[in-house]
Amino acid sequence: MTRRLKTVQDVGEFPLIERLKTLCGSSASVVCGIGDDCAVVQPPRGRLLLFKTDMVVEHVHFTRRSAPEQVGHKAMGRPLSDIAAMAGEARCAVVAIAMPARTSIRYVDGLYRGMHECAAMFGVDIVGGDTSRASQIMMTVSVLGNVTRARCVYRSGAKPGDGIYVTGVLGGTILRKHVSFVPRIKESQWLAHHVRPSAMIDISDGFVQDIGHILEASGVGAEIDVATIPISQDASRCAGGNANKALHSALYDGEDFELLFTVPREREKRLAQWSCAWSIPCTRVGTITEDKKLRDTKGHVIPQKGYVHFLCG
Ligand SMILES: [Mg+2]
Repeated sequence: MTRRLKTVQDVGEFPLIERLKTLCGSSASVVCGIGDDCAVVQPPRGRLLLFKTDMVVEHVHFTRRSAPEQVGHKAMGRPLSDIAAMAGEARCAVVAIAMPARTSIRYVDGLYRGMHECAAMFGVDIVGGDTSRASQIMMTVSVLGNVTRARCVYRSGAKPGDGIYVTGVLGGTILRKHVSFVPRIKESQWLAHHVRPSAMIDISDGFVQDIGHILEASGVGAEIDVATIPISQDASRCAGGNANKALHSALYDGEDFELLFTVPREREKRLAQWSCAWSIPCTRVGTITEDKKLRDTKGHVIPQKGYVHFLCG
């Protein structure tokens, strides 16, 4: 006879919270973590607070084919990637989770282990949250971060003539990267200190769509040299060796969670130090233009069609 796996329902809400509390741990910088009505944290002096929430939903952002540790990693990594996009440091997170009562405790443990491991890479504490019942698993992770006023990088600062750069390699994320990416928090701190990007975003919806957000917010356009787009091996693998398909994947796939940023011409030479500091590439892929279109070097308009949640019609 095989023993049935223990479920959330078997354990009950309060013992479940106690269990998750143990999995999350807490550092000394938190005044009061899980266990009171609110978490209490000391705000860092003289810094702006960054506040971000992000939801992952079963069948939309993940399936049970991924290990729960990977799903947890993704749920925590997504809002941390947004903190990176502002050149901020992340401090603490709260996690709201809804799931069917029959969800196994082993699965829930895996989710929290994945979230905790991802958070711990950046010194982020999980300081609270909420649990509820639902017909499918949903997790909302809200992260509190901070940044100095002078270092904060917005989408709106790109100017004609600025170089356009991307970290890492793009495309084919469905194979692995969408559940195993590393939020570029450390790299963005370095960029804010050494290079001071004029605008920055993390690539969640695809390179083309996300550069579109920078262009719109900054009131500018861009010329992209598509031959320089860094295509991942997974994109090539997904495309079965077809170079055009691989490029399409790099331009449009999404969930790369790389940094896409612009740098004024006079500061571009500072990026020469990048390869001494980091093992991932940082590639110049184009230039910001006055003409408010996204074009390739032949002047053709690059169509906007990244991932959108609510398509019309
Ligand atoms: Mg973002």
